[in-house]
Formats: sequence, structure tokens, C-alpha cells
Amino acid sequence: MAEECTHDCSSCGASCSSRTEPQDMTEKLNEYSSVKKVIGVVSGKGGVGKSTVTSLMAVMFNRMGYHTAILDADITGPSIPKAFGIKEKALGSDKGILPITTHSGIDIMSVNLLLENETDPVIWRGPVLAGTVKQFWTDVLWQDVDYMFVDMPPGTGDVPLTIFQSLPLDGIIIVTSPQELVSMIVGKAVKMAQMMNIPILGIVENMSYFKCPDCGKEHYLFGKSKLEDIAKEYGINILARLPIDPESARACDTGKIESVINKPAEEAASTLETQLKS
Ligand code: ADP
Repeated sequence: MAEECTHDCSSCGASCSSRTEPQDMTEKLNEYSSVKKVIGVVSGKGGVGKSTVTSLMAVMFNRMGYHTAILDADITGPSIPKAFGIKEKALGSDKGILPITTHSGIDIMSVNLLLENETDPVIWRGPVLAGTVKQFWTDVLWQDVDYMFVDMPPGTGDVPLTIFQSLPLDGIIIVTSPQELVSMIVGKAVKMAQMMNIPILGIVENMSYFKCPDCGKEHYLFGKSKLEDIAKEYGINILARLPIDPESARACDTGKIESVINKPAEEAASTLETQLKS
């Protein structure tokens, strides 16, 4: 037993003899919903491209023919509706809150679809933030979803932790940028997933390099990538290195993410599909 044992194994990383399996704290899905696989997309901090990667994965899985959904759990920084150009508000039915379906058929729920004014800040405390995400799982009508991608709040604090515990995640994708790719930050995300017994499906290094549109040469603007060393250190799979891509960024910022052509993201989705099927 750890010297200062709190008897709460969910908040302790020590692998001692009295360790108990984490309690199942996952919330029940709406009785009319059906979601086959749930994948969390996490990052150590904001601004590294977590929402962009979440959106790209959903778009690529949708193109592969799967019914795909996004649960936007980044309540204080919801950017998913904007990436898909969604302006309408979500409505309710007697079976639950109805997600908004995008042009290509991706079901989305985000706090911005419920707020009267999308620029209103969400000034809520942790339990209310986590409670909202739980309701997105329990009260939204997710019909026949094959793959749901969850845009998690950044970091490993109280709110991400509660959300981790309340959703039945089949695995997580860690998104980093070269500036942020320090072992400690990845280590924290890896440890959190391990403590929850959630498999790490892989790591994506976003804004990894810039490919010159004229000569095709790849420039590593932030220096040599440490991705390989860190993936090896933690025994995780590299899913993708996504370049700095002004086209994807513009599409994401103007609501046209569904029309994006992004080869590395497509390859990452295909690798992920194989992994999730095995
Ligand atoms: P996070 O969800 O981690 O806060 P976002 O996905 O919202 O980050 O991305 C932050 C900003 O960076 C957005 O304006 C987005 O369009 C831009 N961005 C993300 N990925 C890339 C990329 N690979 N190339 C260029 N810009 C990007």
C-alpha cells in the first residue's frame, strides 16, 4: 500500500498490492440510442489541433461508409459546430435531444448547439461542465452510430478525468504538436488512460512539418521531431504526422471541413479502422 494511501485507486497511480480494479463509473446510454465504438481525442493543452483531428477522423470514417458522430466534450472551447458550418440549434423530442446532422451525415452534439448565442462564454464550474457531457451521452438520441469521436477537454485535470470515467471509451488518440511534444505531457495522458484501463490507439503529431507547395520539400519548422522517441518510450503507435496545412485550417475555420482532401489524415483513419476492427 502506498504510504499516504487515500483508498481511492482512481486518483492514484501506484501499482501496490491493495490496488483494486477501477469501479465502472460509466453513464448509461439513452435507451433509444446505439453507439458501437467510442473514441476519445485528447491533448495536453489547447490549440494543438485536437478539434481539427477529431473532425478530420469523423469526416474520413464517414467517407469510408460508417455512420459517424462527434460528441463535443470541450465545453469551454467548443469548435466542432464551426468546423462543420452548423448554425442551427438542437431540438428535443420525446426520446431525447436530437443531434444536428451535417451535410454528409455526421451527427453532432455540442454546447454551442444549445446556447442562444454561440459567442456566449460558458462560465460553469467543473461539476456542471462534466454533467453536461454526461447528458450528451445519456440524453441525446444517437441513432445507429458506428463510430463516435469525442473531442475531450484538454489536459488531465478534474473535468477531463470525470469525463474519462463517465464515457465508455474504446480507446483514445493523443494529439500533440511538435512544440508541445515533451515527454512529460504525453506521459500524463498515457498514465491517465492506463489508470482508467483505456487502450491508447495512437498518437498524432499535428503541425509536424510544412511541405513547400512549389518544390515539395518538407520543412521541420520547430526542429527535428521527437515523436518517434516518445512513441517508443511509452510503447504507443504513431497514427499520423499531419503537416501545417493552410487549406485544412481554412476549411476548418470556415465550416468546410467535410470537403477537405488530406492524405495523411485519410491514412491515419484507415490505420485506426484496422486497429479498431481487430
Ligand atoms: P484544439 O482543439 O487543440 O484547441 P484546434 O483544432 O481548434 O485546436 O486548432 C487550433 C487552430 O489551429 C485552428 O484555427 C485550426 O484551424 C488550426 N490548425 C489545426 N491544425 C492545423 C494544421 N495542421 N495546419 C494549420 N492549421 C491548423
